[in-house]
Formats: sequence, structure tokens, C-alpha cells
Amino acid sequence: MKIICIGRNYIDHAKELNNPVPEHPLIFMKPPSALLVDKKPFYYPEFSKDIHYELELVIKICKNGRHVMPEFAASYYKEITLGIDMTARDIQSKLKSKGHPWEIAKGFDGSAILGQFIDITEDMRTHGILFELSKNDKIVQRGDNRDMIFSFEDIIVYASKYFKLQMGDLIYTGTPAGVGPVCIGDRLVGSIGELELCEVTIR
Ligand code: ZN
Repeated sequence: MKIICIGRNYIDHAKELNNPVPEHPLIFMKPPSALLVDKKPFYYPEFSKDIHYELELVIKICKNGRHVMPEFAASYYKEITLGIDMTARDIQSKLKSKGHPWEIAKGFDGSAILGQFIDITEDMRTHGILFELSKNDKIVQRGDNRDMIFSFEDIIVYASKYFKLQMGDLIYTGTPAGVGPVCIGDRLVGSIGELELCEVTIR
């Protein structure tokens, strides 16, 4: 199982971090050991002083495929949830400025918080998916998958040119604007509509 992540997939978020809007999906990966599930607490790592949350829609790949054609891409996922791409922003900024890979800032233990999957409904496919993150009961991020620069299908087509997609792979599809720091004691809750799918406390 692999965890594919997309960076800068919402224009407003690319702008807030002063990044150019990409021409192709910007892909990075997290190792499976980064997963944090079942509402387990997130332990603030000692190597960073600036851990940020990034709420993202996460799709689960439901069949194997390479070089997926655009017209078939929608059949490669049936379930969705919310995840939080926890990021050591201080480390990432340093690595980025040197042009170095940023794995340690993005793929450390516990950095891939994952909520509970639900089936994607026809209504979600046609009318979009609205989602939000609250931090200590205050809404800090709001997203709509129709604002994504690259759709789920675009990502599947592009990623499968390089990496064979395998059943169970996860794709974190990028974060909307509003990312920010967390402190010990904070509680983050991610919801799609009324459904609270993802929850974590920072310890
Ligand atoms: Zn992210």
C-alpha cells in the first residue's frame, strides 16, 4: 500500500504559501508507517516547532491499474474520507529553499491522519463535496472539490503513468486555503456535511 499526496491543488492555497500554480499534479508520497487511524492522538514531534494541519479529501483506489485512460479513471475509486496531511512547515521550508526532497517534513510517523471511509454517492459525483476542518470548535478550513486544479480523475491518470495503482492505495488530493499551526491540546475535526469523519487530538 502506498500513500500518494498532491501538493498545491487549490489555487488559494498555492497563493497563501507563495507557490506557483502547477501545470501537472505535484506528487509526493508518505510511507505506510505515517498513517494515524482510529482517532488516535497525534504526538507533537520533537524535531519541529511548526507543525501545520492540511485537511484533504482522500480517495481509496479500488482496483489495480497502470496508464489509466481518462474515461475509465472514475471507476478506480468508490470510497472517500478526509485526512490531515500533517506537515513540519519549518523543516519543509528549509528543504524547499535548498531544492531538496521534503520527505522528512511530510512523511514522518503519524503525519497521515486518516478518517473513516464512506461510499461516494452519485450526488457527490455530480454536485461536488463540501468539507471543512474545525480546530477547537472553530472552522479554520473550508473546501469544495470542484475548486481542485486537478480532479480525482486527472490525478489517477497522471499518477498511474509513473506508479502502478494498487487496490488499497490512498490518494491525499491536496488542501484548500487556511492551513495553520497546531499546539499541544488542540482538537481537529474534519467533516463532509454533517458527517464528522476525521478527528484527532494533539498531545
Ligand atoms: Zn497536503
